[in-house]
Amino acid sequence: MTMFQNLHRSMTASQTLKVQCDVCRHLGAFSAAEAKKVFGSDATPMEIRRRVTCKVCRAAGRARIWI
Ligand SMILES: [Zn+2]
Repeated sequence: MTMFQNLHRSMTASQTLKVQCDVCRHLGAFSAAEAKKVFGSDATPMEIRRRVTCKVCRAAGRARIWI
């Protein structure tokens, strides 16, 4: 698991952003292009964490995020 500063600095085109729900363990992934489109290139891990809602259990702000 790698901490990162923001998406623009940290993701190459071939990487995926993994997002796992801390409540139900549902795991999702965004391609670099999707992640930048949804969260913005300047998004930090904390901002992404705050903004994501689990598709399965609807828990908000309870995700683990890594690249
Ligand atoms: Zn969940």
